[in-house]
Amino acid sequence: MQDKTIISVKNLKKNYGKNEVLKDINVDIHEGEVVCVIGPSGSGKSTFLRCLNKLEVSTSGSIVVNETDINDPKTDIDRFRENIGMVFQHFNLFPHKTVEENIMLAPVTLKKMNKNEAKEKAHTLLQRVGLEDKADQYPNQLSGGQKQRVAIARALAMNPDIMLFDEPTSALDPEMVGEVLKVMKELAQEGMTMVVVTHEMGFAREVSDRVIFMDGGYIVEEGTPDEVINHPKQPRTINFLNQVL
Ligand code: ADP
Ligand code: MG
Repeated sequence: MQDKTIISVKNLKKNYGKNEVLKDINVDIHEGEVVCVIGPSGSGKSTFLRCLNKLEVSTSGSIVVNETDINDPKTDIDRFRENIGMVFQHFNLFPHKTVEENIMLAPVTLKKMNKNEAKEKAHTLLQRVGLEDKADQYPNQLSGGQKQRVAIARALAMNPDIMLFDEPTSALDPEMVGEVLKVMKELAQEGMTMVVVTHEMGFAREVSDRVIFMDGGYIVEEGTPDEVINHPKQPRTINFLNQVL
């Protein structure tokens, strides 16, 4: 059983003006754990994920990651973010850079590696996501599934401890979903700590250790995939699952 807490969220609240988007989120995530976050559109899933690496600043509450309090003004956020990889729905690759350059950019500019090391790392990662022959291509020469696999490789280039995924397959044509989920599953099996916002219930069932159902800015229900997806207790969870399954 994994028990070292790597992310600890207490009484997290996030408002946008008068809109209370996260109301009182409490959750601990353990090293090596794969947590899937599910819930209806607008329930606060992306905001929650973005608070974890301070892409959004929380209104109140505490978030401790790897023993670092991210809301402590003394915390070097750029440094802290190097340990967290993030993958978005829309890939966000740099269009005027090749696949290899996209992957090398952060390690080189943040001076974590010299160019040769970064290039070698990029090739190792491309091999891992099955795209070693695409190193010199530009993003617009790739399919959506390939772009997302490059985005995952790019996020891994900094050797993060944690990977955050925000609906990584939602923008993909159905035939490309599997190739991206396969890479994510392998990553999970290698022991990566992952928080994955997804509508892919098959992935959540098969790969995650824990499923969190969010609605209206609250965690309404959480548990093993079997508990939450197969035997939900809360009416809102049941209602949501009836719509997506
Ligand atoms: P989900 O990812 O579950 O669909 P979000 O976290 O994106 O939900 O959004 C939750 C709520 O917060 C929505 O009502 C949305 O309109 C609002 N919201 C999200 N981002 C912003 C923002 N940058 N400014 C203002 N409101 C936002
Ligand atoms: Mg979202």
